[in-house]
Amino acid sequence: MNRQFKILILGGTRNARDLAIALASDKSAPRELDILTSLAGRTSEPDRTFGKTRIGGFGGAAGLAQYLAKEKFDLLVDSTHPFASRISQNALIAAQSAGIERLVLNRPEWQKQPGDNWIDCADLDEAAQQLPVGATAFLALGHQYLDRFSHREDVHFVARMIDPPKTPIPLKNHRLVLAKPSHLAAEEAALFTRFNITRLVCRNSGGKLIYAKIEAARSLKLPVLMIKRPPAVSGKNFGNITDLAAEIIRLSA
Ligand code: NAP
Repeated sequence: MNRQFKILILGGTRNARDLAIALASDKSAPRELDILTSLAGRTSEPDRTFGKTRIGGFGGAAGLAQYLAKEKFDLLVDSTHPFASRISQNALIAAQSAGIERLVLNRPEWQKQPGDNWIDCADLDEAAQQLPVGATAFLALGHQYLDRFSHREDVHFVARMIDPPKTPIPLKNHRLVLAKPSHLAAEEAALFTRFNITRLVCRNSGGKLIYAKIEAARSLKLPVLMIKRPPAVSGKNFGNITDLAAEIIRLSA
């Protein structure tokens, strides 16, 4: 009997979860697929309803390369968040060094639609600089990025987080919303209205799931400080799960 085809998915995104589910339910693979999803362990309650998972860093590119070789993986799939640049760079180096194929799921960026009022920002620092004095800014960003706004003591901030912060929020004037982003534009709009938000700060992550805030901003004519993505890592990039899953099935032959 053929050996299983071992796949390590670098995850932490809904796409990674959906890919694992899609592969597990695909019976057309020539070899049985053995799928493991790796999570960084940033959220306290990761969703593990989709198959085998492991949690925690590998110790850089070298650690990941060692892990791939030791566990005899056949394929590495990078389905991490488009702004998680370090792990994607590590994946590129590690797959080369372990001598295995690497595929990347890179969801398309959001495109400006009629009615959108986006102010394009190269990075977080430019977004912080662009905030007008006295603005009330909604920061749709992780805790680790908030300190880039700490010098703006002349701005009120509303920060949304899924888990309670473990360290103090480095912003002078702020309110905290502990909640997952809603998938409904009406709910996001109600939240922005409740807090009198005058600017939305977010990154161009792409994807349908967290697009509701962009639709909400459009409906409220709210200016959005849209932070550009870092360049995609080189390699075989796929824009959707269907095409990527088909390539994985092909490789497993
Ligand atoms: P990062 O800066 O690119 O990576 C930092 C370190 O975290 C990596 O060097 C690696 O540690 C570890 N790591 C990251 N992803 C991992 C994974 N899937 N499995 C095991 N270790 C991982 O990443 P980040 O921006 O902190 O994001 C962390 C995770 O959250 C990613 O998996 C990403 O998909 C997810 N996420 C990120 C964002 C975001 O805005 N950045 C948003 C949603 C979800 P070692 O070097 O020790 O291996």
